[in-house]
Amino acid sequence: MKVKEILKNKKVTVSFEVFPPKEWTKIADTKAVISEMIKDKPAFMSVTYGAAGTTSGFTTEIANAIKAGGVTPLSHLTCLTSTKEKINTVLDELEANGVENILALRGDIPKDFVMNENQYYHHAYELVNEIKSRGGFCVGGACYPEIHPESSSRVEDIARLKEKVDCGLDFLTSQMFFDNDAFYKFREMCAIKEINVPIIAGIMPITNANQIKRSAELSNCTIPKKFEKIMERFGENPSVMKQAGIIYATEQIIDLMANGVNNIHIYTMNKPDVAHQIMEGLSAIINE
Ligand code: FAD
Repeated sequence: MKVKEILKNKKVTVSFEVFPPKEWTKIADTKAVISEMIKDKPAFMSVTYGAAGTTSGFTTEIANAIKAGGVTPLSHLTCLTSTKEKINTVLDELEANGVENILALRGDIPKDFVMNENQYYHHAYELVNEIKSRGGFCVGGACYPEIHPESSSRVEDIARLKEKVDCGLDFLTSQMFFDNDAFYKFREMCAIKEINVPIIAGIMPITNANQIKRSAELSNCTIPKKFEKIMERFGENPSVMKQAGIIYATEQIIDLMANGVNNIHIYTMNKPDVAHQIMEGLSAIINE
């Protein structure tokens, strides 16, 4: 099924992100994680591509495992360091496997990478155009409630986002954020600029104190005072921090839903127990 149809047909959606393993020998472990997560009936599951050193070749394998478990897969695809031929090979593979949904991304700029004249892709919108020109796929893109780290201003960031959406995106998934007000302001800016596709809110449950430092650095997102206090008080105690992080993420989602944000994507970090506890905390709301 296409993600855009799921978003249209269901009042509330909670979906999960997983990442593939770094080595082939770990593929069975990742599939076991997926089997466990499927029990919580996510609306769909996305699988990252080459992120944080994972092997891009395993993305389709994991997407297939998600599909085999009866859940709609959304396969991420990055283009910056790829050729047109490579991208089309991956698209052929996804098509052949009946994977209908792609999150079209530029990808982070690798360390020591130099843009060169032979480069085919420079920005995600070019990949969106490529996929859309083939037809058949439902295509999503990334957005940044607290501005993409390379953007010079909010105005610039939203203008580029509008161009990308106008290439034919069916939905957007947001970067993680911990302050819902940042998302509400971003949503308003999108409405003013007539970015009218569904915007899925990305939520990262922080279950240990080191994770938030890394996540905030990578994603440019602010840490609210309330969460800083939680870390100060519980950060040294892993099991307490985990519980507090799950509750914080659950409360964030409830507040979003109360404010009309009905589509949530959980960055699960491949932790089925964390995803499960959040889903339990939302059980009545999801089935409202
Ligand atoms: P773009 O939309 O191309 O934007 C990148 C920057 O370029 C922005 O600053 C934008 O304003 C600017 N820009 C866009 N168009 C133009 C233009 N025409 N001229 C000048 N500037 C322009 N990374 C992975 O490697 N694998 C993954 O699986 C992955 N999954 C992700 C999922 C989500 C939901 C998110 C939010 C991010 C994900 N990322 C992933 C990280 C992503 O690749 C990086 O954030 C990357 O730096 C930007 O990707 P993008 O698709 O947003 O790029």
